[in-house]
Amino acid sequence: MAMETIELKCNVTLPERGKHIAVKRGGCCARGDGSEGFIMSNVATTPGDMTERGCTYAGCRGVVGGPVKDVIQMTHGPIGCAFFSWGYRPHLADSDFHMKYTFVTDMNESNIVFGGEKKLLQCIIEAAQEFPAAKGVFVYNTCATALIGDDGKDVAKQATEIIGKPVVFFECEGFRGVSQSAGHHVGNETIFKELVGSVEPEGDFSRAINIVGDYNIKNDMRTFEHLFETLGLKILTRFTGNVSIEEIKIMHKAQLNVVHCQRSATYIADMMQAKYNTPYINVTLFGLKAMAQALRDTAAFFGLEAQAEVVIERELARVMPQIEYYRQRLQGKRVFIYQGAPRAWHWIELLRELGMETVVAATTFGHDDDYQKIFSKIQEGGLIIDNPNVPEIEEVLTDHTPDLFISGNKEKYVAHKLGVPFVNGHTYDTGPYAGFSGMVNFARDIDKALNSPVWRLLRAQGRPAPQVSSPVT
Ligand code: SF4
Repeated sequence: MAMETIELKCNVTLPERGKHIAVKRGGCCARGDGSEGFIMSNVATTPGDMTERGCTYAGCRGVVGGPVKDVIQMTHGPIGCAFFSWGYRPHLADSDFHMKYTFVTDMNESNIVFGGEKKLLQCIIEAAQEFPAAKGVFVYNTCATALIGDDGKDVAKQATEIIGKPVVFFECEGFRGVSQSAGHHVGNETIFKELVGSVEPEGDFSRAINIVGDYNIKNDMRTFEHLFETLGLKILTRFTGNVSIEEIKIMHKAQLNVVHCQRSATYIADMMQAKYNTPYINVTLFGLKAMAQALRDTAAFFGLEAQAEVVIERELARVMPQIEYYRQRLQGKRVFIYQGAPRAWHWIELLRELGMETVVAATTFGHDDDYQKIFSKIQEGGLIIDNPNVPEIEEVLTDHTPDLFISGNKEKYVAHKLGVPFVNGHTYDTGPYAGFSGMVNFARDIDKALNSPVWRLLRAQGRPAPQVSSPVT
């Protein structure tokens, strides 16, 4: 069928972007440049495109490896690589070692010329001596150290013998993939090969599950862990929010993997299924309906359906009065969601529960399956953007006039400057947002953003001023 052209004015000099922009029209996916096919994703960014993507190292260090709370997190590379990897994602834990310190070999010019292996070995030994309580060392490779050919794997092997603790080397050099998504994959594979199954504990694991693909941003896990435990289940390993290296080693003993982030963590669930016959289920832990379904599906695996219904009924009774209050205030608002990948489709349904519609959905590193899910959930006429750049974001905020923008820190000030109410759905300014309680927090923060008195004082540039209904109570 003839495809409708959806052009953004800012892309007049970058026509390649047309394949990464689409609209849902007549049940079909109409690409921005009118060409045939589904929205293009997970390919190299076009030179000249002001992408917001991270590198492979960022995905491995910042997302998958970084939350492990009791290991030395060491970057093998220039100091600049370490800077943005640390203190950015608030993946909280019951100890703050991984959040408090960062370690880097600080490769300088002479190290690049003469090689950095000796320096890496020395850094690992020194860090292990300075922090004897650390249970191991995770070393992340970067572009510079990969390009000069440092054999980090060999250094890790030597270091393991010297310090007597596991030293895990991640081959996650920044240029390895087209985005941070490749780093998630490297992180999963390395942890699986190096750690999972390396010890065989005794005990009863007949009701043990792993929560896979939750990184405990602002303590998201506290909103739902106790619900699974109320069913009589034991959470053995959290991959990787608030987890210790010892818990990772025994995650193969679980009966079921409950996979939340299906972009960054399905890899390890697949590998565990292949090697240990551990089944997994995909769940969404955001939103009332999805959280209830996650409990139902997990309970059904263990024959605990009746217990799940009791928990769900109790939780819904507890939060529904607050959800109803916010739904009245948020009804009919139009939202632009821009997240890493799965949250874009997780939250389309959640926002609908609050009476809101997503009119634009975008991801930084989504793959085809993420966009299939977005496409199936977004309303007719919804705009979908893969890897949006800054001019595109500005144009959409200005011309499509969403009432609310849910994105991350990088976009927060752009939104505010354009007079668009904003909620930080990436690292959360407050949160947590998962589970039943988190849904109330999310609704509260959306209400605060939309109905802040500041909008009465601001003269928005080039777009209608947000309509503030009544003061936030
Ligand atoms: S690993 Fe490479 S792409 Fe990533 S921050 Fe370092 S230099 Fe940049």
